[in-house]
Amino acid sequence: MPIKFPFSRRREVTPEAWTKCPTCESQMFNRQLERTLRVCPTCGHHFRMGIGERIELLLDDASFEERDAGLESGDPLGFHDQKPYTDRLDAARTKTGLREAAVWGIGVIDGHRVAIGLFDFRFMGGSMGSVVGEKLARCFEAALVERIPAIVVSASGGARMQEGTLSLLQLAKTTAPLTRLDAAGIPFISVLTDPTTGGVLASFASLGDIILAEPRALIGFAGARVASGTVGEELPEGFQSAESLLEHGFVDAIVPRSELRTTLSRLLRLLPVAPAEDGLQTAGEAHGWGPIGVLSGIAERLGTAVSETIGIEVERPPADEPAAPRERTREDDR
Ligand SMILES: [Zn+2]
Repeated sequence: MPIKFPFSRRREVTPEAWTKCPTCESQMFNRQLERTLRVCPTCGHHFRMGIGERIELLLDDASFEERDAGLESGDPLGFHDQKPYTDRLDAARTKTGLREAAVWGIGVIDGHRVAIGLFDFRFMGGSMGSVVGEKLARCFEAALVERIPAIVVSASGGARMQEGTLSLLQLAKTTAPLTRLDAAGIPFISVLTDPTTGGVLASFASLGDIILAEPRALIGFAGARVASGTVGEELPEGFQSAESLLEHGFVDAIVPRSELRTTLSRLLRLLPVAPAEDGLQTAGEAHGWGPIGVLSGIAERLGTAVSETIGIEVERPPADEPAAPRERTREDDR
């Protein structure tokens, strides 16, 4: 059942406290930072933003209806490092007031209805475990069923190590429905904020029809030291910055936070959803052969099992059913 998003921007900052800008070192009141959309008025540094603030920034007033708010991570591996995974989850919930690192729902941007997913980096580094993957997959599936564009605002350190391989499966789970959106002519806009790394970047976040980034956001797969060690070379200045990725064609545009809503609104106008036709299955077949198509097949076979492991109720829309004949066709051809 849709639940109205319960968190307001006011609760996320202590109004009297100061914040120091890590770029230009100027000090500002949190209240002032709130007025400037958490952008440093001196140098333009974009501070990280919570989900409530992001919703206020991007969506029409009171238009957001959260979906699947009740999904919570279990602890399928009984994982324990310095402390149990369940303790880490509890601490993150207390700190952020969120149940998980991502939230999804239906909202409206300048009159355009969209399915939107948002990350909060403060919740265990915005890491993607089974629940975050499930929420995003459902976000994309809702976009497909309702034929509305999908948007995800990412801020994540990558896959959640406490869930081991199950968190890596989320790469396939979030990628699979995107191939169906693509086939159905429904746009997906990916917004990369600081930082977007690891398995999140290596899956849905880099698959937007349009990929936007906030200024100077850190965007990359492995950390700079690991990447440098792997290739055995010094990395260039600004490696893994939004600006460098724009220069190399990975990002379509860098959009300052103050212009993000109008940019999304314009893109939604320019990228209309294709008219519905009875071509979903056929289009899906055409995509069955690429590497993404293979991932899609894996996700469809394992998705239910994974979700049951962590106690999630999985509703599969009828649009998923064509997967079986597609698998058979592939086997026959071999
Ligand atoms: Zn600054």
